[in-house]
Amino acid sequence: MHSSDQRAVALSGSDVPGAHELLVHSCEDCACPPSGGSAVRTAAGLPAGPLVRAREIVECPVDGEHTALFNPDGNGGVLIVNRAAHALLELFSTPREIGALAADESAEAAARHLFSHDLLHPAGAPPDPRFAESRQLTAWLHVTNKCNLKCPYCYVSKSDEGMTRDTGRDSVDALVRSAVRNGFSALRLKYAGGEASLNADVLLDLHQYARGRCDAAGLTLSAVLLSNGVAINRRLAAALTEHGIGVMISLDGIGEAHDAQRPTVGGHRSSHLVVRTIGRLLEAGVRPHISITITSRNVDAIGPVVRFALERDLTFSFNFFRDNDCSAAVADLRFEEQAMLAGLESAFAEIEENLPRWSVLGCVLDRGQLLAPRRRACGVGDDYVVIDQRGQIAKCHMEISDTIGDVRTTDPVLAVRTDPRGIRNLLVEDKQGCRDCTWRHWCSGGCAAATFRATGRFDVRSPNCAIYRTIYPQAVRLEGLRLLKYAAR
Ligand code: SF4
Ligand code: SF4
Repeated sequence: MHSSDQRAVALSGSDVPGAHELLVHSCEDCACPPSGGSAVRTAAGLPAGPLVRAREIVECPVDGEHTALFNPDGNGGVLIVNRAAHALLELFSTPREIGALAADESAEAAARHLFSHDLLHPAGAPPDPRFAESRQLTAWLHVTNKCNLKCPYCYVSKSDEGMTRDTGRDSVDALVRSAVRNGFSALRLKYAGGEASLNADVLLDLHQYARGRCDAAGLTLSAVLLSNGVAINRRLAAALTEHGIGVMISLDGIGEAHDAQRPTVGGHRSSHLVVRTIGRLLEAGVRPHISITITSRNVDAIGPVVRFALERDLTFSFNFFRDNDCSAAVADLRFEEQAMLAGLESAFAEIEENLPRWSVLGCVLDRGQLLAPRRRACGVGDDYVVIDQRGQIAKCHMEISDTIGDVRTTDPVLAVRTDPRGIRNLLVEDKQGCRDCTWRHWCSGGCAAATFRATGRFDVRSPNCAIYRTIYPQAVRLEGLRLLKYAAR
């Protein structure tokens, strides 16, 4: 798209080659939001009758010629338009037929893009957000309670106890049984802990077992190892590749910035070990996803770790520190709002400098996203089950000791859906302050555990609300820049 374009030009994610593979969801260390739905929308045919511009459009100027557009009441997807296409959109401020415009090929193509992104809609019929029903059951399998790091923000009260093969297999049986009984078509396993790689033999055994059980039950299986990246040797890296297990590595900064919040149990630095592991994984053909947890200790050092990931073409996501019982005594982790915004601004500047092909809409907004509308921030209490090393069931990994049953006796999905205690994952409409928010279908009111911790209530908006509201438009702008760089015209 050049500034000299007089033609109306509108580009979306579907114009980037390989569009669907370029959507990154930052759900790896949390309950994934309902699957289904996508920000990749292909330009649809235009309906008969008058069209009108959507009422509430977020407009983010990208440069002197281009604007990124997003309809928060629609079904997702950012569109980048040049001035001519923007003027075309404004023509529809009052309802009008596409009529004579249809003779102009570029205007007609731009109108189709505007329509498919819910920026234009039939007069009197504004778009209805389509909330995807989850088809995937996600389970956190706590394969060990042991860890080789001592991160001050960790919510797990550690011990040396690992999951046995028998408990692992019982857990898989219960999950498969429960997935089938409750109509799921896919199972996603998150091998976690503690440090899951410290119980690698059991992990690999139960993955193989899960493969057989899922095949027999007609369930699609996917899995990811959530690791601190310290102890993954070449043998395990090769096994992960062989079994098709994805990897998420926690890296909170480069050098000191990481070591300040992820020391070993002996109090030594760990960043060099993590970087070595990332190299090993790449050699073995695994591209790890990088999880960056932001606290007050590393908030001004996120830029370099973002650059590290971008230079290696690794996807990454941001997680804001969440207060918990284990970290309560550590006073210097809670971030200030302004410091977080400044830190994110520097990270966004790095992204702008070195724009990836993949979309950041699903991973730079903490638990929020801009990929598909949803009414809850995560699947807690619905399609997410946590199983600890003893086979006890919990609703959320941050409340793993708040158990509500046992894999040997319970249908885990039924247990998390019907237990009246603990975390309540309310619809965003039921959260005070969120009902009329522009971003309600994209933020969904934030993490229920973090909100309760900060306010003692589940029915109010996130303590990070002001941060979210500030960074959402910035993410729309970044997506506009990505489209300008990579979309085929
Ligand atoms: S927490 Fe804030 S940004 Fe999120 S939906 Fe509620 S009001 Fe909107
Ligand atoms: S309640 Fe919060 S911590 Fe728990 S899975 Fe949901 S987003 Fe993650």
